[in-house]
Amino acid sequence: FDFRDKSAVITGGGSGIGKAAAALFAQAGARVAIIGRDLSDLEKAAEEMSFGAEHKVYCVAADVSDATEMADAIQAIGGKFGGIDIVVANAGINGVWAPLEELEVDEWNTTIGINLRGTFLTVKLALPFLKRRGGSVIVISSINGTRVFSNSGATAYSCSKAAQVAFCKMTALELAKDKIRVNAVCPGAIETNIDDSTERRGLQDLHLPVEFPDGDVPLTGGGPGRPEQVAQLIAFLASDASAHITGTEIYIEGAQSLL
Ligand code: NAD
Repeated sequence: FDFRDKSAVITGGGSGIGKAAAALFAQAGARVAIIGRDLSDLEKAAEEMSFGAEHKVYCVAADVSDATEMADAIQAIGGKFGGIDIVVANAGINGVWAPLEELEVDEWNTTIGINLRGTFLTVKLALPFLKRRGGSVIVISSINGTRVFSNSGATAYSCSKAAQVAFCKMTALELAKDKIRVNAVCPGAIETNIDDSTERRGLQDLHLPVEFPDGDVPLTGGGPGRPEQVAQLIAFLASDASAHITGTEIYIEGAQSLL
């Protein structure tokens, strides 16, 4: 990939899939900005992916669910780079996985707020910059948006991920005239630390009628995919190689969802 004349913004770019994507863009010559909640975490990650002072990855602290913080962040990045060409709405949490009766309203709101409102804010606020010369938006959804696994109880998460796909389709249609493409990437299990903060409650009470396979990936013979593999797909969707692709979702899951 060659992104030498491009500027990219990646939310949640300090770890996992976002970090792998940011590193790939930086390596391919793009000006890269990463957004996350903790500036020192971002700077640590940026240190590992920057190539000299000229290609220093720019770090901006913001909570993607906070409209004011995100407006300031995107404004700072768009101003510094003189435009934005690539937006990767990647920040997300698993949140609380629990039976519906036990899922608190606040817990629902937190998951939807970060995964869905965060996507909305990221893309909406970047639009004035994207519109200057067209661009590519890549939203990181999940196979969970369209497929139920044994990680049942992930109702809020799955709804947020399904809605991200709908968001891509609606906005792809609306923004086609501006030469802005919007696509969703739907990963299966990928080796990151996202699960560390998942809170699972009362799932044994669900008494599901069948056992769903969990985490078995036919293509690897078991284990999860790697963030770098997802980054390759993100880069493809950001590049001119995918110039005619918009409003679609692409799965990257090693046949996991065919089980
Ligand atoms: P991760 O935890 O490494 O990455 C998520 C990033 O988002 C972190 O850097 C985190 O700090 C950031 N973040 C969380 N809440 C935020 C907020 N309010 N404001 C700003 N930043 C915030 O995990 P990951 O697996 O790399 O996740 C990236 C995306 O991939 C998520 O949207 C996730 O739903 C999706 N995904 C992951 C998998 C998987 O198996 N790892 C599968 C399908 C989809």
